[in-house]
Order: sequence, then structure tokens, then C-alpha cells
Amino acid sequence: MRETGCPEEDLFSFLLARRQEDLGYRNILSSMCTPPHPVAARAHAMFLETNLGDPGLFPGTAALEDLLVRRLGALMHHPDAGGYATSGGTESNIQALRIAKKQKPVKSPNIVVPASSHFSFTKACDILSLEMRTVPLDDAFRMDTEAVDCLVDDDTVALVGVAGTTEYGMVDPIARLSEIALDRDIFLHVDAAFGGMVVPFLDRPIPFDFRLPGVSSISIDPHKMGMSTIPAGCLLTRNPDWFACLNVDTPYLTVKRECTLAGTRPGASVAAAVAVLEYLGMDGMRAVVAGCMENTRRLIEGMEALGFPRAVSPDVNVATFSCDRTPPGWRVSRTRSGHMRTVCMPHVTRDVIERFLVDMGDIDA
Ligand code: PLP
Repeated sequence: MRETGCPEEDLFSFLLARRQEDLGYRNILSSMCTPPHPVAARAHAMFLETNLGDPGLFPGTAALEDLLVRRLGALMHHPDAGGYATSGGTESNIQALRIAKKQKPVKSPNIVVPASSHFSFTKACDILSLEMRTVPLDDAFRMDTEAVDCLVDDDTVALVGVAGTTEYGMVDPIARLSEIALDRDIFLHVDAAFGGMVVPFLDRPIPFDFRLPGVSSISIDPHKMGMSTIPAGCLLTRNPDWFACLNVDTPYLTVKRECTLAGTRPGASVAAAVAVLEYLGMDGMRAVVAGCMENTRRLIEGMEALGFPRAVSPDVNVATFSCDRTPPGWRVSRTRSGHMRTVCMPHVTRDVIERFLVDMGDIDA
């Protein structure tokens, strides 16, 4: 650390220089985040110093967290779901598996996940000493539920399905997983970190939420398609009482117990998440999602016209291609199988797609 502080102007030119090195979201087709909606940015600024880790000091902000859980619970067809605002999909997935593990104390616990699951499950298994059993995918990159039965055994503490896979944008057959979970009496966690804010707004929503009786918990991230500020995730549970198994005593805070993973927690991104939901409503979110899906279709059609076939027809706004090139000045990513991966987030407008297609056509020439 410096012995004496630096003048404010110097400091901010230094910060600005670093900030200008960031890529921003221009020409970025690889991210599941997007610039926050203007109402999210405004709400975030209002709640900058709030700390949900000590909710008695911030009862107004804590009420917004409750409202967020109620709104997202209702969106997931369970207005009385339990839940809290996490830092994102990783924390939600870890916490869901903690609950599942505590509910079923066995000697060598395992979880059964699709091969498409997000790497946060690898972290969760490491932290929680869980064996990860991986279910292969079918031709459409969805979990092959035929293979689930022989992987599940008496030590399986959770079954996981994904609604909106990170790499291919597919929704696993959650209805079938729900039947298996009920049959075999297993906790079913649905990772809808991405798709949770997309699928409910599609013209033909695919069942994945608490309407399916076997679904125990859901991860859903406002900081992805919810256009909130970072970090804004949410973990929802069918039974609000399940969180009690995570409680630890917190003697010197305004609350006596805490079930969250983080201690100090931002209220600003929670206020931002609520702001977007209230401002846009169902209609506004449907319009955003319709635009992203339309752009996804246009991108697929344009890439195929250039001779780059889609890897699969996605359920949500993630488009993947057999294409090993990337036009200069653009960011796309690669799936584990080597497909080009793009995400048509709200900042990836029609104009961006058309510019990308022109540049793709140019490198092909
Ligand atoms: N789950 C899914 C399906 C994801 O796509 C992601 C991130 O892209 C995560 C979990 C992890 O979310 P986060 O990076 O917010 O922790």
C-alpha cells in the first residue's frame, strides 16, 4: 500500500485507464451477462452501502429480498417457495446440494448430473465431498434420462437437471427427471441459472419448475437474462423450512441465525433485480426474450447460409455451430466439443448479428 494517498484526479485517471482496457459488451457474443437495464443501474446506486448480511440494520432492503423471492417463486409457479438472494448460479448450486446432502446422511454421498452441467457442480462436489456421476447426453445435447436409473443408488443425495445449458442452450427433460425423483425419493435440483429468466417467457414454455411435483429446488439468476447488476442470483426451495438445516448462530448480528453461504451480502444488486422485474413486468420480459430468440434464429439462419451448420436447435438463446473460425474483433467461445458458441443476450441486437454475419462472410471469402 502507498505510504501517502494519491490525489483524487490522479486516482480516477488511473481507474479510467484500467476501465478502458475492458472489452465492454460490444462485439461480445460469448457472455451470459449483459449491461444492466437502466432501472437496475439506478436502483443499484440507491442501495450501494446496504448489507443483507445484517438485515436488521436494513429492513427495507431485506423486504426487497423477500419480494424478489416471492416474485421469482411465483414465476416458478410456487409463490410460497423458500429462498434467498445468492451471488449467482455457483452459490445457488452449492447451497442446494448442501441442503440435499443434509437431508440424506449417507456414508458415500453421490449426485447424478448431466454431462452438460456447469462447472460449479465440480466445485460443489469438491467442497461437499460428493461423488459426481455423469449422465451422457442424447443427440440433442439433453440429458439421456434412460441412463439415469442405473446411476442412481441408495447413496444418491441429489439428481440435477439443467434448464438452459451453458454450452448448447438446451432444457433437460425435467418432467421425466421429476418422475424419477418422486419414484426413487431423491432431491431434484434444477439449475435454471440461465434459462429461468428465459423459458417462462417463451411462446411455448417447456415445463421445468415447481409445477412438476418432483422438483425440490431451483437456481435462477437475475444477473444473466434478468438484466440486473452483478451479483444477483437466487436459490428457491419447494419447502422454505429446508433452509433451517444450513443455519449457524450469528451472535453479534441483528439476526441470531444465518443460512446463507456469504456473510456480508450486497443489497444493491437485489434492489436492481427487483427494479427490473417491477419495471418490465411479464409483458416487458416476454418482449426482451422474444427479441433475443428472434435474433438467435436470424443468427442460425445467417450462419447456415454461409455454410456453418448449427450444432443443435436450441431451446433458449444460445446458438452453436460447426465453425472453427472467428472474425477479427469478435468474441465467441468454444464448447467442450469444439463448437462455436454464441449467446444472443439483450446487447446482441439485430444490428450486431448482421455485422457479425458480414464479418463471418468476409473471413470465409
Ligand atoms: N449454471 C448455469 C447453467 C450457468 O450457465 C452458469 C453460468 O453461466 C452458472 C450456473 C454459474 O453462474 P455464476 O457464474 O453466476 O455463478
